[in-house]
Amino acid sequence: MTFREDGAIAVEALDAFAKRALDRDGPVIRQPQFDDLARRLDLYRLIAEGGLEGATLRHFLETYLDASTRLHHPAYMAHQVAVPLATSAIAALVDGFTNNAMAIYEMGPAAATVERAVVDWMLRKIGWQPEPSPGSSGRTKESSSGGGVLTHGGSLANLTALLAARARIAPDAWENGSSAGLAIVATEGSHYSVARAAGIMGLGQKAVRYAPADDLGRMDPARLPTFLAALRREGLTPLAVVANACATALGLYDPLREIAAACREEGVWLHVDGAHGASALVSPRLRSLLDGVELADSVVWDAHKMLRTSILCAAVLVRDRRDLDHAFREEASYLFHEKDQPGFDFIHRTVECTKAALGLKVFFALASEGETAIAAGIDRQTDLAHEATALLRAEPGIEVAVEPQSNIVCFRFDGPDALQIELRRRLTEAGDFYISTTEALGRRWLRLALMNPATELADVERLVARLREHLAATRAMSFG
Ligand SMILES: *Cc1c(COP(=O)(O)O)cnc(C)c1O
Repeated sequence: MTFREDGAIAVEALDAFAKRALDRDGPVIRQPQFDDLARRLDLYRLIAEGGLEGATLRHFLETYLDASTRLHHPAYMAHQVAVPLATSAIAALVDGFTNNAMAIYEMGPAAATVERAVVDWMLRKIGWQPEPSPGSSGRTKESSSGGGVLTHGGSLANLTALLAARARIAPDAWENGSSAGLAIVATEGSHYSVARAAGIMGLGQKAVRYAPADDLGRMDPARLPTFLAALRREGLTPLAVVANACATALGLYDPLREIAAACREEGVWLHVDGAHGASALVSPRLRSLLDGVELADSVVWDAHKMLRTSILCAAVLVRDRRDLDHAFREEASYLFHEKDQPGFDFIHRTVECTKAALGLKVFFALASEGETAIAAGIDRQTDLAHEATALLRAEPGIEVAVEPQSNIVCFRFDGPDALQIELRRRLTEAGDFYISTTEALGRRWLRLALMNPATELADVERLVARLREHLAATRAMSFG
């Protein structure tokens, strides 16, 4: 079989998969037993004997897709993962086929140029200067401009940004290891990847110190200076303040302008974790949620959340590109050397050595729709979150955590935390709706991440009805 023929089989299968899901035909999620699934997929025989092509490929994909979670299904409301535009998936195919490991320009000039365009577009959305072109004169190269790199996800991006922050405050840490006494200032609602970065950096997770927040968990800028002063009295040096835009659990934005003012006053690096919410910068209506973001030192922005890009693709963006250039200082003589070249390398800015052409996936998404349509899509999902909130608030026995600022809605049924978990378990088992749960404000919530442009308010209505059925069954059992 040829690439064309097998490719056509795959495209046909995927197209049918998406169409059925969009038509609400069949479940959104299935959780088959591992052993049974492995057997049905015939994995070990295929590994041993080969032959995954033609009719065998078609059959394999049938089984594979049958057990795959259907993000295209309007009842998919679970996680902050985009329903990717088909064009973005096509870009992933182009990347997979050409396999240009473009961290060094010579391994993928087109891929590197596309990544630069995407990074520059994001920098401009923040309000930062894009980098001068590598062909421009030395003078402009010296002046400060923004910079960035795309990497495999927000977690890695947060680590990269915090390494850049450390390189500024403790430039010898790369050589000698982290000196004791550095602290990362975040809120309890910060993503776990921030604490994980502290672990990876050798600071220890205890180096993450939680700043005062308001009763919805947003960082309180008025109390930030006192908090930083107290850290310093303890002998600690704040490495960075990490603000959420928006926070994962409730989807709320920290007040960036006020936090940035406090950070400037104190001379502390401000990192904005905009993995989910920085995409609001594309929307003229919503961008004020990130008011002041241009005063930050670094921003993380996932394209695979709200920019309809297939996983994974996250940007690490810095106001001064030199900060990112100093994040990793090491030498691999065959890769890092002064060379005359018509382009530029990304390799010194990222954990990765072999690097995928992530920019292509974002670019295809943006360039197929145009940024105005992408922005309208973000507005639409945010509006839907407000409508869903109103609907849920009108329901007896349901409490909504907070009026949303993004496309995330948290609610709970009257009863203990265990009830929420049990309801979600039953829902997932039945498979006709897929939602998540989270802990916030000291309690467990059912959580909707309204990622799918095909999800309508009527789907949320049907979800509530279904949850009520499960609730009745649950009450009949044990929760009283
Ligand atoms: C999703 C998210 C992350 C993690 O990003 P991944 O791409 O899943 O690694 C980090 N921070 C916030 C605020 C997020 O929403």
